[in-house]
Order: sequence, then structure tokens, then C-alpha cells
Amino acid sequence: MNKFYITTPIYYVNSVPHIGHAYTTIVADVLARYYRLKLGNENVFFLTGTDEHGAKVGQAAGKAGKTPQEFVDEVSAQFRTAWENLNISNNDFIRTTESRHEKVVNEILLKLKDSKTPKGNDFVYKDIYEGLYCVGCESYKKPEDLIDGKCPDHNIEPEYFKEENWYFRLSDFAEMIREKIENDEIRVLPDERKREVLGFIDQGLENIAISREQVKWGITLPFDDTQTIYVWVDALINYISALGFPDGENFKKFWPANIQLLGKDILKFHCIIWPAILIAAGIELPKDFFVHGYFTIDGKKMSKTIGNVIDSNDLVNEFGVDAARYLIISQFAFGQDGDVRAEEFKVKFNADLANGLGNLVSRVLAMVEKYCEGKVPEKEFNAVIDLKKIRETLDKNYADYKIFENLKEIWNVIAWCDGYVAEKKPWTLAKENKQDELEQVLYNSLEVVRHLAYFVLPILPETGKEILRRLGEENIDYEKAKVVGGLKSGQTIEKGEALFLRK
Ligand SMILES: [Zn+2]
Repeated sequence: MNKFYITTPIYYVNSVPHIGHAYTTIVADVLARYYRLKLGNENVFFLTGTDEHGAKVGQAAGKAGKTPQEFVDEVSAQFRTAWENLNISNNDFIRTTESRHEKVVNEILLKLKDSKTPKGNDFVYKDIYEGLYCVGCESYKKPEDLIDGKCPDHNIEPEYFKEENWYFRLSDFAEMIREKIENDEIRVLPDERKREVLGFIDQGLENIAISREQVKWGITLPFDDTQTIYVWVDALINYISALGFPDGENFKKFWPANIQLLGKDILKFHCIIWPAILIAAGIELPKDFFVHGYFTIDGKKMSKTIGNVIDSNDLVNEFGVDAARYLIISQFAFGQDGDVRAEEFKVKFNADLANGLGNLVSRVLAMVEKYCEGKVPEKEFNAVIDLKKIRETLDKNYADYKIFENLKEIWNVIAWCDGYVAEKKPWTLAKENKQDELEQVLYNSLEVVRHLAYFVLPILPETGKEILRRLGEENIDYEKAKVVGGLKSGQTIEKGEALFLRK
């Protein structure tokens, strides 16, 4: 791999950013930072943004007493601020109300209008829809989708609609997309989600409406100005409009996406509709889709009514940016559903960061100052821990997007080093005047700490950099990071303040 393009879903502006959005965005950031270390900054592109059209946004703006544009400007800015506060390193932030996006949407829709399905039919055609529509889902509902006449996800009765709309003949793509997912040409992860998409396809794909007559807050269909483009179709195109499709340098360099992250509620749109659009438009398909699960907070669904919505900004204020990032992604394995227990944040902060990483770094550096005049001892690394193998495990896990597993690996190294220091007792060696042995133990510990600094860099960027600075390694260099015993003897170190203050 020589380039890496990663996307988060673009977030719908009908709600303000919360810990669920933050989770996906931090995971994307960790992967982007990891690949920047590996491939160089210029070879990684990380995209996020906001999805700003549709009936739901129009309604929410009305409720807030604002024009849709004012409303989306405000909410989109909140997402940007939340990501800045979390030190998210996205290369671009796309908004679907930007003209650069609308231009590409028009271009793609015109292309699709002329395109044929794998069975030789027109991909786009006109038809009358009569039935129920849930504004919450922004999608049509069948009677069997409803519980007591209501959308189960939104607990509202869908509205009756009769409209003449434009459609995609999605059904003609069923076999082709099925095959591509089955043979991993389009890789859907984790495996259970792959099975879920294949299940959807087996139930039969229905053709989908791609335009709406009565929704005004949207992009006008380029070949029929009585209609706006269905918000989902418009939104999906962001992944290429941000790169400047078709002639932009970034499009040429970074498309197809290496990995697109998404929540399981938008699985069909990303793993079926999006590939169909790309195939019809003659554009290469993304390589991987990684589907993550849902959050509950203290066992309950996150909702404004219950009042259990966690704002990532609050976590940053309370714990600091690196700690907030860690606390959010260390809750449960990426890809699964998981429960976040709010009282655990402080416990985890103290255990893993203040007493764990922070304490180890302070202890080792303090001993080097005390026993070795603050200089890296003249030794070679000989501790019984295979740092090279650990790095290989981390690399392998990142390739499979196993971030949670990597946190465990890294914290095992911290535990190992704590145990090593406790066993070798440098303070006793000092009392017994065993300076040679003492220096060996401290050199080994410092080298493990240096490796830890590189290991945590994508996850805790400021902390990783700060540890390396204290070790005198100002230039972050992934090649140097890989060398076991790469820590330079004679180098002056700096003890510094505690990295994380116990709460
Ligand atoms: Zn709904």
C-alpha cells in the first residue's frame, strides 16, 4: 500500500455532535495518524464532514426558528469545533451544501441518467410512488416495517405520500454486488456485517427513489427541476466530491478509498447503493467498509429525553484531549455494540493513564535523573521482551482495524515494564553500588518507554510527542521507531511534570 484514504460517514446535522460521532471520528483519526507515520503525511487523506440536506433538516430549522442555511451553518460549525477539541487531523471537512459538492453531484447524476444496468436497462427511470414515508429515516416504509403503525426507530407514524419520482434500478445490480461482496472485492467488516449485507441482497433488492418532489431543501435534479435529489444519494457522493472528482489531483491520487467507516444503520446505503452508483458511473469501488455498532450509556439508548447524551467536549474539559480520546475508544471493541458506563471514565483515567502510562514514564525518567545524571546510560538493550514482535502485532491489527486489541497490546507492555522495574529494584541496586547493573535496567526501561511513545502516538498524539521530547527524540521518525535499541546513549533526558494528574 502506498496511499491511504479513510472516510467517516458525514454526520447528519439534525443532531449535535455526541460521543457516538466522536467514537467513529477518533478511530478514523487513529488510523490516519498511524498511516501517516508509515507512509508519510502526503500519502494519507482523511475526510469527514456534514450531511446537510433533506426534509428532516428543513423541519429542524423551522422548529429552531432559523432558515435551513443558518441552521446547517451552526450545527456544522459545532462538529468542526468538537473535532478540533479532540485534535482530529482530518485533511478536509466536506459540507454537502458547498458548491464544490453540488457541482460533482450534478455531474454524477447526469452520468447516471445515461447509464445502463448490468442487465442493459436504463439505470434511472421515472415512476409513481404511493405509500408511507418516515421523515426520521428519510426513507419509504412498508407496512411490515412498522410496529403499531409507527416507525420503530423514530416512534412516529410515517406520512402518506403520492409522488412521481425518479428511481434507480437497483434490482439489476443484485447479483453483481453480491458476488463482489462474497469474494471480498468489496470487503465488508466485521464478518457478521458481511453476512447481514448478503442477507439483504438475498431478500431481493428493491429499486429506490432518488428524487423528491416535495422536499425543497436539497440539490435540484439536473435533468428535472421539479425535483430535488434524495438526501442519501447526494450525501454518498461526498466521498468523491471532496477529492475533486473527476480531474482533481486528490481524486487521482487517493481514490478508491482504502476504508470507509460507517454505523450499522447505514449499511445498505454504503454497501449496496453506493457501489451501484459507482459501478453505473464507471468509477472504481472502495476497498473496505468497516461497520461499527451502537452505543448505550449505562445500559440505555443515548437520548436527549433520558438526558444521558455524552458530549465529547465535556470529556476533553474534564480529562484533557488525549485522555478523552483514549477513554472514548477504550470502551469496547470497534465493530461491536457496547455499553459505556459514565462512572468508569474516572476509574479508567486513573488506572490506565495516571497510574499506568503516566506513572511508568515519570518513574523511569526520575530514576535516570537520580542515578545516571539525567543521561541515557551507555548500554545495549537486552531485556526479555520482544518489541519487534509487538510492533508487528500492532501493524497486523491496524491492517484489520483492530484498534481496541492494540490498546490491550500496548497496555500489556506498560504492565510488563512496571513489573520489570519492580523486579529489578533499581533503588536497591543503587544502595548496593551495583551501578553497571543499575544502568542496564534503566537503559532497558528507557528503551521500552521510547517504544511505548511511538506505540501511543496515533492514539495519544500529544502524550507520545511529549515522551519522545523528554527522551531527546524531537524528530519523529518511524524508521527509527522500529529499531530495537535505537535509543542513543549519552542523550540528556528530561523528567518533566506528571503526564496525567490523578483525579
Ligand atoms: Zn424512522
